[in-house]
Amino acid sequence: MNSSILLIYTGGTIGMMEDAATGSLIPFDFGALQDHVPELKRFNFTIDVVSFAEPIDSSDVDVVSWQQMASMVEVNYDHYDGFVILHGTDTMAYSASALSYMLENLAKPVVFTGSQLPIGKLRTDGKENLITSIEIAAARRNGTSVIQEVCVYFEYKLFRGNRTHKYNTENFDAFESANLSGLADIGIHIFYHHALLLRPSGAFSVEKNMSRDIAVLKIFPGITPLLVTAILGTPGLRGIVLETYGSGNAPRDKWLISALREAIQGGLIVLNITECNKGFVEQGRYETSTALQQIGVVGGADMTIEAALTKLMYLLAKYPDRERVEEQLQVNLRGELTTFSLL
Ligand code: ASP
Repeated sequence: MNSSILLIYTGGTIGMMEDAATGSLIPFDFGALQDHVPELKRFNFTIDVVSFAEPIDSSDVDVVSWQQMASMVEVNYDHYDGFVILHGTDTMAYSASALSYMLENLAKPVVFTGSQLPIGKLRTDGKENLITSIEIAAARRNGTSVIQEVCVYFEYKLFRGNRTHKYNTENFDAFESANLSGLADIGIHIFYHHALLLRPSGAFSVEKNMSRDIAVLKIFPGITPLLVTAILGTPGLRGIVLETYGSGNAPRDKWLISALREAIQGGLIVLNITECNKGFVEQGRYETSTALQQIGVVGGADMTIEAALTKLMYLLAKYPDRERVEEQLQVNLRGELTTFSLL
C-alpha cells in the first residue's frame, strides 16, 4: 500500500524570499516552494499540501498557531499516514514541544522541519531536510508507522520534538537534544532506535487549550526583589518556570525564598529547571536548592525550557486543581523528561 503524507506549511526560512524593497526575508506562498523542489514529484506516494493562510516567520508563532497546526493534523488524521510540518527554526522547539502534548496518543508521525537557508538558494539545506522528513514520515514497519510521536528532523538528525533546543543560528546543524540521543542514525540508511520510540496507550485525541497564565523567571547574579515581585505579582499568573543554576540552585537570599514561598502559598506553581543545556535538577543536592524544595518548588528533572513551559501551559489548561498539575509535571508524559532513580 502506498503511503500518503500531508505537508503542513506554516512559514519560516525554508519558504522565504528577499523583500525587494527592504532586503529582509519574508515568507512566500508554498506553491513557489514546490516549484523549487521538483524532487517531490519523484516520491511514489501521495504528498498533499495544506498551508497557513498567511505563512509566518516562526517568531510570530503563538498559541493560536499551535491550535491551527493541531487542527490541521486532527482533521486530516485518518486520511494520511504521516505529517510533515514546515516551520521556522526560531520557535520550532517550542511548537514541537507544544504539539507533543496537544496531540494525545499519537499513533502517526508528525515531523517538524525547516531550514537555515531559503529553499530557493543554491546552498539550501531545505531540500534535504524536506525530502528526508517525508521519508521518515512515510516509514512503516510491520504495517504501522515507525515513528508515532512528534519529532524534529534537521541536518541528518532525528530528535524527539520535546527534547530539542535551537542552539546554533549559523550552522546547518541548528538543533540539539542534549539529554536524549537521536531517534535514528541517518546516513545512507536510516537506522531507527526502536527501543527509544514512543507508542500510544489509548485513542488519539487533541487537547487544544493551552494556558497563557505563565511566566519564566530566570535567576541571575544580582537579580533584584523589584523584578521578582513584579513577575510574581502578574495578575492571573498560575505557574512559572524558574530557570536556576546547575542542578537547580538559586541564591539563598531571604527575600527571594520568602517571595517564592508567599507566591506558592497563594496558589502559584513553580517549576524548577536548570539553565544548563545538559543534566537535570536535583533539589536538595546543594544547600542552595534545599530551601526551594522545602517551600514546594517542583523539580523539573531534565526538561528543556521549551518542554517545561509548554507542559505547564498544557497541564494548567487541562486540570483545574493545582495538585494534579504539580503531580503531572513530574510524570514522563511524552518522553520529555527522564525519571531518575538515584538509589
Ligand atoms: N526567523 C526564521 C523563523 O524562525 C528563521 C528560520 O526559519 O530559520 O521563521
